[in-house]
Amino acid sequence: MRIGIVGLGLIGGSLGLDLRGLGHTVLGMSRKQETCRIAEKIGAVDQARPEPDILATCDLVFLCTPIGLLIPVAEAIQLHLNPAAILTDVGSVKASLVAPLSHIWPRFIGGHPMAGTAESGILAAQNNLFVNRPYVLTPTPETDPEIMPVVTEVVKSLQSILYVTSPAEHDQAVAWISHLPVMVSAALLGSPTNHESQPEILELAQALASSGFRDTSRVGGGNPELGRMMAEYNSIALLTSLKHYQQELTGLIELLETQNWSGLEAYLAQQAQARPAFVGEA
Ligand code: NAP
Repeated sequence: MRIGIVGLGLIGGSLGLDLRGLGHTVLGMSRKQETCRIAEKIGAVDQARPEPDILATCDLVFLCTPIGLLIPVAEAIQLHLNPAAILTDVGSVKASLVAPLSHIWPRFIGGHPMAGTAESGILAAQNNLFVNRPYVLTPTPETDPEIMPVVTEVVKSLQSILYVTSPAEHDQAVAWISHLPVMVSAALLGSPTNHESQPEILELAQALASSGFRDTSRVGGGNPELGRMMAEYNSIALLTSLKHYQQELTGLIELLETQNWSGLEAYLAQQAQARPAFVGEA
């Protein structure tokens, strides 16, 4: 198959490495000439350049730019695509992207490979990034039935674990396990930083912070631009999740205010039982 990749960074470059390894011809388009050159050099693409005409012969095109550019980039390339080409994206939110992207290119299906590292850019691309990782496809009732089998086969060939759901269900699930934790973790950092009135206590807390605080504050102390993007593009599902989290906090405050220690222990025991269903026994 001739596969196009637009946006040669961590995800686009990693897809290119694996797809070339599987024998596909990979044609890349990225904003910077230098990125295109590096992508060719590391073997993530057969050829790449910043001009969209490189995509003209592709059967399948992956949009792999940052979320905020997926729609403008789709608009910019659509005149250069083969009318039979299938378009898909890798954006981490779906409902706010799938509707406009399907409007721009009716042979579109939303996708989200749930794999990544803390790095970004073409030099962060790696082989086998998607092996044993979830890859969610989000067809809608309007999705052309020919598209699903083609994209499914490619996803499975990456050795990803395929999940198929609606864009809205994807966004709510991802809000629970990815976007809510970022906000909660940021608030965890914000609580002492913004509310401890005695500087010496704040300094002592900072000095004493260890692995527990490192684990729980990690995602909240990450890239602010990414956090803003996920909130902006998944605001409804994230707000729903945050409001339920607020209810949990209110419940906890009540248990403490009423000194209901057995109630608190029961609540904590319930959560300890719930955890393996999300992250296994680790
Ligand atoms: P990234 O490493 O920053 O890669 C994005 C690439 O897009 C950049 O290297 C940039 O290359 C290129 N680009 C920027 N503007 C462009 C334009 N106008 N036209 C063409 N190319 C352009 O980001 P990423 O982590 O791969 O994320 C890309 C997408 O994957 C996002 O939509 C994100 O939601 C999704 N995603 C990310 C992860 C993750 O963990 N990182 C996981 C799942 C899904 P130049 O050097 O040419 O500017």
